[in-house]
Amino acid sequence: MRDDSSTVFSVQFSRVPCGWSSVMRQSALRVFILVNLTLTAHAQQSRWTVEGKRGSIEIYAEFDPGMQDLWENVDNVARELKDLVAVEPTDKPIQIILFRDHGSYVRYLASSVPQSRQRRAIFYQNGDVYQVYAFRSRTLTTDLRHEVTHAILHQHLPFLPLWIDEGLAEYLEEPESFRSESSRTKSARWKARVGWSPSIQSLENIPNAESMNADEYRDSWAMTCLLLNESEASRQALRDYLAVIHKGEAPGPFSKFQKAVDSGVIPRANSYFRKMSIRLDSGSSRQ
Ligand SMILES: [Zn+2]
Repeated sequence: MRDDSSTVFSVQFSRVPCGWSSVMRQSALRVFILVNLTLTAHAQQSRWTVEGKRGSIEIYAEFDPGMQDLWENVDNVARELKDLVAVEPTDKPIQIILFRDHGSYVRYLASSVPQSRQRRAIFYQNGDVYQVYAFRSRTLTTDLRHEVTHAILHQHLPFLPLWIDEGLAEYLEEPESFRSESSRTKSARWKARVGWSPSIQSLENIPNAESMNADEYRDSWAMTCLLLNESEASRQALRDYLAVIHKGEAPGPFSKFQKAVDSGVIPRANSYFRKMSIRLDSGSSRQ
C-alpha cells in the first residue's frame, strides 16, 4: 500500500521529448508545480537537532534518527541503483529532511505542499534541489529508502514511466536481504499459482500517480522484480531502456522495446512468479 506516500513532484515538463507517447508523457508529468516552497532546509537550519552531509547528500533532522543506519540505507539504495540499472546520483544536492512527528511535518509543509497531510513521506523537486521529507515513525526507514530511490532516479533521468519509477522505489524500499521472504513476495507466489501475473499493458496505461491504487503499486513492484531477476536478458532490457532515456531519447513503451521483446520475459511472467527467486547481488545482509 503506497498511495499515501508516493507522489513525485517534478518540474521537468520541458524536457519531455516530442513524439513521446501520451501515456508515457502522462507518467512523466504527474506533477504539481509548487513554486512557493519557501521554507527550505537552508533557511531553517537552526531548528535541526542533527545535520549531516556526505558528498551531495545532506540530512537535516529534528531528532536523532540514528545517522549511521540512515547513511547505510541511503548508501545501499544508491549502490543498488547503480549495480542493478546503472542509475547514479548527480552532484546536485539531495536534502533529506526529517521531522520529530507527523504534526511537525504537516505544520512545516502543509501550506506549500497540502498533499503532505495524506502522505507519510514526499519526494519534492525544488529546482535543482531534490528534497525528501519524512517524519519519525516505525516505517521511516522504508519510507526513506522509497523516496531516496525517487530522488536518485529523477536526478539521473529526465523522465521515466510511472510504473518503473514506483516499481524501483517499491523494490528498493526493502533491504536486499528481506526481499525473498517478504510478505508481498510470498503473496505473489501464491497468487501466481492461481494464474496471476502483472499486465505490462495495464501498467503502461496508468494515467497518473494520483490515480494509482494498491494493486497497481503491487504490480509495478512485481514487474520490476520480474525484470531484475528473471534472466540476464530481462535485466539488461531494463538497463538498456533506462540508458536510452538517460540520453534524452524516447524509447517508446517498454512492452514494444526491442530488447524487452527479444528477452521473451513477459510471456514467462507467470512461471517466474510461481517460484519467484530474488537474486542477492551484493551478498550484503545489513539491517
Ligand atoms: Zn513512490
